[in-house]
Amino acid sequence: MMRANILKDVNKIGLEDRPIPVAGPGEAVIRVTLTTICGTDVHIMRGEFPVEHGQIIGHEPVGVIHDIGEGVSGYELGERVAVNAITPCGMCEYCLSAHWAQCGGFLGGWKMGNTIDGAQADYVKIPNAMANLARIPDELSDEDVLFTTDIFSTGLSGAESAEIKVGDIVVVYGQGPIGLSAVAGAKLKGASLIIGVDTVPQRMEMSKKMGADIVIDYKSEDPLKTVMDITGGRGADVAIEAIGLQESFENCVKSTCVGGTISSLGVYPTELHDIGVPNQDFGFGLADKKIVSTLCPGGKERMRRLMSLVKNERVNLRQLITHRFSLDDIEEAYKLFAAQEDGVIKVAILP
Ligand SMILES: [Zn+2]
Ligand SMILES: [Zn+2]
Repeated sequence: MMRANILKDVNKIGLEDRPIPVAGPGEAVIRVTLTTICGTDVHIMRGEFPVEHGQIIGHEPVGVIHDIGEGVSGYELGERVAVNAITPCGMCEYCLSAHWAQCGGFLGGWKMGNTIDGAQADYVKIPNAMANLARIPDELSDEDVLFTTDIFSTGLSGAESAEIKVGDIVVVYGQGPIGLSAVAGAKLKGASLIIGVDTVPQRMEMSKKMGADIVIDYKSEDPLKTVMDITGGRGADVAIEAIGLQESFENCVKSTCVGGTISSLGVYPTELHDIGVPNQDFGFGLADKKIVSTLCPGGKERMRRLMSLVKNERVNLRQLITHRFSLDDIEEAYKLFAAQEDGVIKVAILP
């Protein structure tokens, strides 16, 4: 048997004993050596994102291969691997159109801890193992690569989908883990000026470490006015939304210049039926502005690239870990992370 974190009810999670999974055809089982809690897990716990009660949650595993199913070749037991939250099949229409996250259709690439058992456990079963087991370079520790499994892939993809050009001015609304990763992504894409917006002191400080040049505290100044002042009234080339609120989405539209791009990463609450676009700042539909949305790209080739960035010190993701907990203390970890207490940015969970 193994320990596993179960979604029991609304606002109720906790460990239960479950059988260690067995790899079926095309699958693998990994023994989890490190994982984390995502903001999305908090939405799931609160009942804001629908996941079946009784399921193991979590979608960010680092570990070693424990079991290999029939038809899976090219891997050995005991190899260190990381697996992205998004586990594409690599064979369907959407995967073959490079929409890995939409494998099988609408948001379908996110399976682990959503539609199948997840990674906050001693072991996790990985579907389509040959498309998804990403070997970890020997030089890198588990902590070095932990955030390639979700937040860094997501944040970077926000910068990639916006097609940031060398020299662009980029503003990122929200400096939680995803927004911080988007700042790192904007820097990697060659932005000339990166502006972060938040109010939590530890997040504002981390924003500079991840690559922001200017960090605006939205509680002490109007971020929109400051962006306009900094850009001489022109606006930013790209605004990245990393919160999931109507207000910050609107600010993104208002912060962008003519021809600018609004890149949306936030998860908007399900009770928000429509997201409104401010008409005048959208040029009544004529300002050549683009709005793009992205779900975390996954699969082992994406993971190889992300780990290469870490290995060659283009980005430091380990510094986002502010707290460490054993799997036995996962309820305490959820409480701290959900309440954003004690300057927490990300927690590491050690099975
Ligand atoms: Zn996540
Ligand atoms: Zn697919």
